[in-house]
Amino acid sequence: MSAETLKQPADGPATGGDPLIRLEGVTKRFGDTTVLDHLDFSVQAGRHVTLIGPSGSGKTTILRLLMTLTRPDEGTITVDGQRLFPAPEKEVREVRKKIGMVFQQFNLFPNMSVLRNITEAPVSVLGLDKDEAEARARELLDLVGLADKCDAKPSRLSGGQQQRVAIARALAMRPRILLLDEVTSALDPELVAGVLDVLRDIARSTDITMLCVTHEMNFARDISDQVLMFDAGRVIESGPPERIFTAPEQERTRAFLGAVL
Ligand code: ADP
Ligand code: MG
Repeated sequence: MSAETLKQPADGPATGGDPLIRLEGVTKRFGDTTVLDHLDFSVQAGRHVTLIGPSGSGKTTILRLLMTLTRPDEGTITVDGQRLFPAPEKEVREVRKKIGMVFQQFNLFPNMSVLRNITEAPVSVLGLDKDEAEARARELLDLVGLADKCDAKPSRLSGGQQQRVAIARALAMRPRILLLDEVTSALDPELVAGVLDVLRDIARSTDITMLCVTHEMNFARDISDQVLMFDAGRVIESGPPERIFTAPEQERTRAFLGAVL
């Protein structure tokens, strides 16, 4: 992968020790259910953080809050020193450009070619000219091993190929932060490795900050600097993967890992 392909915007990495992502006292309720309960956590620039925990513990909700697909009921969210919540809409739009997300279900635009899926947002949101956007899209497709699929419609691709297009599409916006929500969970088992290899490559060769929800524990162990164990909307334990996976302190973590490993 060329360093140029994934070069970050000119505003560069956060300086000093300030975290790139900071959640403080974030509470999220759906009706009577408190999904996140005064959650605090932060992620330093360039780190790869994996969120693990049982289904329903609030992992997706955190990524959706960062993507501004949903809003907290209380608390503050700061990204790269700028408020994401609470903040005026104009500011939110600016901050949002720094964040890309890949979903479990790919969510490609079905009526657009693979190339157009990738160029659409850079042209319409970032204002890149079409030729520049296409040249970059081709580089990214090369990176994810799909250089020959530019003109295909998503429906003609395997799930693994579609997910690699979705990764290229997220990278095309030159995000500083990449959110990955169980991106291999919808794939046939034989297609998982190809997607994880692409993500390992990105983790190794870029300075993109990654926040990743996954049940692929070997992958989490490979790429993570830090693992956060969630239960019922709280971080109950966190640490480097070597420790969390081999010597968890909490009984709840032991039980969870016993069930998924
Ligand atoms: P995870 O990703 O850890 O499985 P989620 O963040 O998806 O958990 O969900 C946490 C809890 O919030 C679950 O109990 C879920 O049912 C609930 N929840 C999530 N989204 C909504 C919604 N839009 N409306 C109502 N409840 C929701
Ligand atoms: Mg989820």
